[in-house]
Amino acid sequence: MKISLALCLVSLIIMLPVVTNAQVDSASRQPNIVFIFADDLGIGDTGVYGSTIIDTPNIDALAASGVRFTQGYVSHPVCSPSRAGLLTGRYQQRHGWEFNPAGRDRDNGLALDQVTIADELGERGYATGMIGKWHLGQQEQHHPMSRGFDEYFGVLAGASQFFETLPEGGAYAGTRAAPVNRSAVNAVYRGRERVQVDEYLTDVFTEEAVSFIDRHANEPFFLYLSHTTPHTPLQATKPYLDRYGHVQDMATRVYAAMVSSLDDSVGEVVEKLKEIGQYENTLIALLSDNGCAGYIDNACSNLNFAGFKRYHQEGGIRIPFLLSWPNELPSNKLYDKPVISLDLMSTFTAAAGDRVETEDSVNLLPYIKGERSDDPHEFLFWRAGPTQAIRDQRWKLIKYKLTDFTEADLNDTGRLDPPTGGWATGTPLGLITLLYDLQNDPQESNNVAAQYPDIVQRLEAEHARWNDELPPPDETILPAIRSTLTDVDGKTVQLIF
Ligand code: CA
Repeated sequence: MKISLALCLVSLIIMLPVVTNAQVDSASRQPNIVFIFADDLGIGDTGVYGSTIIDTPNIDALAASGVRFTQGYVSHPVCSPSRAGLLTGRYQQRHGWEFNPAGRDRDNGLALDQVTIADELGERGYATGMIGKWHLGQQEQHHPMSRGFDEYFGVLAGASQFFETLPEGGAYAGTRAAPVNRSAVNAVYRGRERVQVDEYLTDVFTEEAVSFIDRHANEPFFLYLSHTTPHTPLQATKPYLDRYGHVQDMATRVYAAMVSSLDDSVGEVVEKLKEIGQYENTLIALLSDNGCAGYIDNACSNLNFAGFKRYHQEGGIRIPFLLSWPNELPSNKLYDKPVISLDLMSTFTAAAGDRVETEDSVNLLPYIKGERSDDPHEFLFWRAGPTQAIRDQRWKLIKYKLTDFTEADLNDTGRLDPPTGGWATGTPLGLITLLYDLQNDPQESNNVAAQYPDIVQRLEAEHARWNDELPPPDETILPAIRSTLTDVDGKTVQLIF
């Protein structure tokens, strides 16, 4: 049996025609993949998702050219673990990157035994380039060019200054947002070499992206354009600020200007793809790595969802999520079943012609095309230390750690100072149990846990089954350092991230 199967395979391989580059270029060239990641962009911060303040014509056009997801999620409500999940197509707790490194990514990084989307697409013949924020380790072995990317230009850390001196007509908002010289900590790199950047960082990333596309016009490419905007510091230049002169509140004006710089970036990338004749043959994805932040003076919007970045309510994890691929996908399509950033691994590699399967990543293409009408995911799961969350098609269960800390315990950055060794994941005061009917109460305003004990029990059991597959939260690469408090359902809870 085995021998005949082997013989079949050998004869199949012999029969396969040799494909020349010219043939690839004409009919069967693999699609290019461009993944544009925004940082802390709220689901309510683009026109197509309902912003009444910010104009995003290019993002709106991207949505019109493809598919807009109304229930798109990330696997964590803060930057670094969200990225670790997305780039591996696996819940990041599986490989120990459960918390924000909080600066310790200078010594540690994404586990080296993990395979990234760039590794997979590189193996499939793609030129792979990354531009922008990495946030998954800064040592040689953790650098993007050690994790599957042929080229890199950007910021290895979690954030950077957008400019180092205030340009004429530029502005900033917030107490810690005045421009300062970049330190080695948030430096900009070309490849592995530190470079000086004088222009507005978002514009520089856009120029680099356009240049990457130009240089690789004649081969399939994967571009990961990971903008640092509109993450803090809130800083913008005059051309973008001029669009919002009518906005009185300064933080709101600067934030809107930053989102416009992202929108212009999307426009320039699309224009370049059209110029090289590859727009129809390019799968473009646009997501945010978490919901918008509650600590920037109400300058952003998660629509009317509860919570912000750091929270496991919808405002922290439900994000803008767009896919466009004119050659293959319908235009002007809304897709309303729950999907997650982890799905990009299977989706991108399926588009490339050879799909990767992981425990967690679902190829979304057949769902979008209407070839499948079932649910991509029966459940989505989250965990951050003691915090647990799970949702099915209708219900969402969240458990937060109860605490006797009060607002008076928060430091001047709005966080709790961590104990030596990080936050223990135990829950001596117990957990609050929150159950929401997302179908009828997407705002998570009405905790119905007491009315539906059977549903609570069923979701608890499913979460426990998933949790049993994971290493425990205190065996992660990094302990939990970041934490803050919030009030939910009349109780103060401790968020650990
Ligand atoms: Ca972020």
